[in-house]
Amino acid sequence: MTASVAHIATQARLRDPVEQLQLALREQQVILDTAGVGIVFIKQRLVIRCNLRFAQIFGHTDTADLLNSPNVSLYPDQTAFHALGEAAYPVMAQGLAYKSEVRMKRRDGPLFWAHLTGKLVNPANTDEGSIWIIDDIDEQKSAQAQLQALLTEQSLILDNALVSILFLRDRKVTRCTPSFELMLGYAVGELHGASSRTWYMSEQDWVEASERCYAPLAQGRTFNEEMVLRRKDGSPMFCHVQAKAIDSQDLSQGSIWIGLDITARKLAEQELQQAHLHLEQLVEQRTQELSQTVLALEKEAQEKKAAQAHIQQLAHFDPLTGLPNRVLLQDRCQHTLSMARRKQQAVALMFLDLDHFKNINDSLGHRVGDQVLVELAARLTSAVREQDTVSRLGGDEFILLLPDTDAYGASQVADKILQAALLPFQLEQHELTVTPSIGIALYPRDGADLDTLSKCADAAMYRAKEDGRNSYRFFTHDIQAQTDRTLLLGNALRRALERQQLSLHYQPQIALASGRPVGAEALLRWHHPDLGAISPAEFIPIAESSGLILPIGEWVIRTACAQLAQWIEQGLAPITISVNVSSVQFRHANLPQLVSDILEDAGLPPALLELELTEGVAMDNPHKAIAVMDDLHRRGVKLSIDDFGTGYSSLSYLKRFPVYKLKIDQSFVRDIEQDPDDKAIVGAIISMANSLGLKTIAEGVETEGQLAFLRARGCTETQGYYFSKPLPTQAFEDYVRKSAA
Ligand code: C2E
Ligand code: MG
Ligand code: MG
Repeated sequence: MTASVAHIATQARLRDPVEQLQLALREQQVILDTAGVGIVFIKQRLVIRCNLRFAQIFGHTDTADLLNSPNVSLYPDQTAFHALGEAAYPVMAQGLAYKSEVRMKRRDGPLFWAHLTGKLVNPANTDEGSIWIIDDIDEQKSAQAQLQALLTEQSLILDNALVSILFLRDRKVTRCTPSFELMLGYAVGELHGASSRTWYMSEQDWVEASERCYAPLAQGRTFNEEMVLRRKDGSPMFCHVQAKAIDSQDLSQGSIWIGLDITARKLAEQELQQAHLHLEQLVEQRTQELSQTVLALEKEAQEKKAAQAHIQQLAHFDPLTGLPNRVLLQDRCQHTLSMARRKQQAVALMFLDLDHFKNINDSLGHRVGDQVLVELAARLTSAVREQDTVSRLGGDEFILLLPDTDAYGASQVADKILQAALLPFQLEQHELTVTPSIGIALYPRDGADLDTLSKCADAAMYRAKEDGRNSYRFFTHDIQAQTDRTLLLGNALRRALERQQLSLHYQPQIALASGRPVGAEALLRWHHPDLGAISPAEFIPIAESSGLILPIGEWVIRTACAQLAQWIEQGLAPITISVNVSSVQFRHANLPQLVSDILEDAGLPPALLELELTEGVAMDNPHKAIAVMDDLHRRGVKLSIDDFGTGYSSLSYLKRFPVYKLKIDQSFVRDIEQDPDDKAIVGAIISMANSLGLKTIAEGVETEGQLAFLRARGCTETQGYYFSKPLPTQAFEDYVRKSAA
């Protein structure tokens, strides 16, 4: 049977009032026992009845535990009990329910929050007791307290937060931290209720920001951005912003924004970036500078290299022809000879010199001369093998080094070169032919080093020239002998002056008109005790090449002048004295002064001294030669051109030479009676001299016939064996006295 069926049955059966009361009480008890709140009936400050929930609230398991217990024990203390009573009874006395939240005490002591509702059973009579409904709200209370604490904590945090926190709803501020307002330059509280538009720089910024943040917020994600916000004063600031929707499903709930002022950082970043940019610019600039420097350095290095190459070129190659020079030749020769030594091979060394090359330079100019040399260099190079060296020593002198070449091979090369040279040189408007003279020396027969071999080849080359030029000669014993003699004479000549082996002979110069001696040519004689008389034709060139001609030449002028002065003093009819001056002497700077000094020392009038110059003196530098001649002329000294006709003086220069006499070379005079050419030449020289106002003297006149021809042509003077050989001092003196008689 269920409880409700039993209850109906019982009600039907029990009809007497006591039974009915007891039933009602039981029903009441059931109601009490099933109620979710504590219910207690208090009478005379005692618990009369309570339900189980009440007992449980106070820590009991049975309602019986509480029956008849004083209700003061339900309160923390007497004071709380009385306070409640004083508060509750006036209300309840009015028949009203008293409601309150108070602290109550459980059985074992702990206090708890309870919600009380009290009502008097009979407001008119408190003694009839009161009914109290008690709800344990301790948990609710502590939750509330916790929430409160949390809220307090939160607002504390918000108020003191360094970051700015902002609550927005409908883009309006519902709450914000003071730091947010301060960050933007507002007073605390100033932004409450303000629109977020306030801190955007522009309407557009604001609209765009909302568009950007919508999607992440709606998806429950964090909107995270660095933004430029507007301060109250209008200035911009940088803010790092993080935002999240309070409820991503319902954006109308609003959003929380956390902002961090990153202006300083941004400025620092900007500054950093600026610095970085600046640095990059500097680096760029520096890089450019560096690359420019590198370029400059590279250029410098290249220039240096080029300069070095140029120096190398200059050091080893002839600038005109590009051929190896003596330095490089030396190098190659050393190498070639040591190789030949090891392999026991022959080496040929050729010395090549162009015949009369000076004439080309002289008559056509150095430019043409240079072109001839360049062209010749090319021809020589193509005439030899690759392993051969063609080098230029300077001027028109070349040396060819032919490894692994014997006499036969060398003669073939020489032939080939002579052939190659034969072809005319076509230069500008000129067509020229040049002929070389070649001397050949062989290793090991003639020498074992460049110096010896080139001397031998040089000597052989001279022999080729002596033998008629345009040919080649090998170095021979004969040439060796000649070379040896040259060496011997050179050494002997060094002591000839001091040992008084030198003397002067005088050859009379006869005026054709009177037949009387009008001058004398002083001719040098060398008598060596062992070698005997040595011809000036042999030793003068040696003296010239060794420089000995300077002291010797001075001695000649001094002796001749002194002699003439002495003759004049002795009453000899006054004549001129002619002294031969070598081109080496002539080129020496102090010649004019030396001559003046000598004349003064001798006490001789300058006009009695005649200096015989050869055309060669003007060869290298005609202007300088003319200047020296002018100097001598101003000093009153007479000048003549010796061996006239054999040189290559240009007539235009001749006109400017301050000479007074031409000495017609004896080679023209020799065959003057038979050779029509010589007749023509001598005749031409004489008439040209006459037209220039110059005197003429014919050298080497030996015959009556020669004399007759010269006289017929109007030659001024003669000199030759026909009248007299060169005579020693005394004999000459006698000769002059005799002819004067
Ligand atoms: P040079 O100046 O042309 O001298 C004339 C040469 O012809 C002299 O030869 C002379 O002895 C020679 N001679 C004169 N008449 C005749 C002749 O009728 N027939 C032949 N066959 N020869 C004749 P030498 O004395 O042997 O001198 C030769 C050359 O040496 C000179 O030629 C001159 O160039 C040079 N010389 C001589 N003495 C000196 C000197 O003191 N200084 C310089 N620098 N050179 C000198
Ligand atoms: Mg002479
Ligand atoms: Mg002469």
